Amino acid sequence: MNCRFCDTALEHEFVDLGSSPPSNSYLRAEQLNEPEAFYPLRVFVCEKCFLVQIDEVKNAHEIFDDNYAYFSSFSKSWLEHARQYVEDVSGRFRIDENSRVVEIASNDGYLLQYFKQRDVTVLGIEPTLSTATVAREKGIETLTEFFGERFAKELSRDNRSADLLLGNNVLAHVPDINDFVAGLKVALNPDGVITMEFPHVLQLIENNQFDTIYHEHFSYLSLYTVKQIFEARDLEIFDVEEIPTHGGSLRIFAKHGGNTKHKVVKSVEDLLAKERWTGLQTLDYYLRFHPKVDRIKNHFLEFLVEQKRNGQTLVAYGAAAKGNTLLNYCGVRNDLIDFVVDASPHKQGLFLPGSHIPIVGESRLKDSKPDYIVILPWNLKQEILDQLDYVRNWGGRFVLPLPDLKIL
Ligand SMILES: [Zn+2]
Repeated sequence: MNCRFCDTALEHEFVDLGSSPPSNSYLRAEQLNEPEAFYPLRVFVCEKCFLVQIDEVKNAHEIFDDNYAYFSSFSKSWLEHARQYVEDVSGRFRIDENSRVVEIASNDGYLLQYFKQRDVTVLGIEPTLSTATVAREKGIETLTEFFGERFAKELSRDNRSADLLLGNNVLAHVPDINDFVAGLKVALNPDGVITMEFPHVLQLIENNQFDTIYHEHFSYLSLYTVKQIFEARDLEIFDVEEIPTHGGSLRIFAKHGGNTKHKVVKSVEDLLAKERWTGLQTLDYYLRFHPKVDRIKNHFLEFLVEQKRNGQTLVAYGAAAKGNTLLNYCGVRNDLIDFVVDASPHKQGLFLPGSHIPIVGESRLKDSKPDYIVILPWNLKQEILDQLDYVRNWGGRFVLPLPDLKIL
């Protein structure tokens, strides 16, 4: 296997999380009696460009199929994040009714709806039909396509290039990152701006967020590496922000190389320096990660088994992809966690892949009054703690497995 950006042979393992089913492949009851496909979750780091990457073992078209169950609009804090972003960039880059905004992986229109309210021309590109259908019902034009250079050329030919081209949590999810960034170059107007958000690999490592590793998530990115990938396609990053979403992400701003309208600001240099001090440009830094992951696994399992032995009941909250990585790597099934509560009606009645823990609605939590609730999507911790505050009335407590086991 070679680096998907620079083609160097990959010889250094970052972490090996064993084998796991694709984390968004929720199961129906009748599927529990059928064999389930497990794929290795092995992550490498490139010694030349330091791109942390997983081997593409499963075809992206199989993962993001028409039944894909992740709907962005079911998270209130994510909606607020989108609304605020639209307000900020509209002011900064004068995005108005004369502009065209194109969002890649636009999901159910959670973000474009705010541009539409401002009479901006919007176009969503979303490969999963289930979410695209919801976006269309909101009146947001959505093409069910995978974005890459070929498709970008079609957009450009149809005079649908973007003044603002954005993608949140998609850069890390594309198997062919070179083709994707080549497409960005093609689909961007001369003075246009690209913004991309992706989880920062620095946060993953510093905060032990190994549960953000799953098959759909092909790359784990630093500014240092993304800058190289963009520059290889004559795109220049002119600003970067650290934002709190997904446990700590970067939002980058890019433009065509040589464009003078948007000035490069100091944040880029500062963040590169921060990454360098932290160690992101040395191989050793990446190789120290796996032992930290195993320590967390052991703590979490010890805790679950001890509570079970004491007759306590344990459930989980949030049937998110990251929960599946944690549960499958730790080997936790419904013998330790009775069920997982999720607000999305699209997931209720299904079962988590691998662990086969049933997904239920919140009423089940109120009826069964468990002693412990493990919060799986720790990035939504505060939202969940507020929403489930009533659990305290029966003495229920919350468990956060990462970055270190904590009982709240
Ligand atoms: Zn490389």
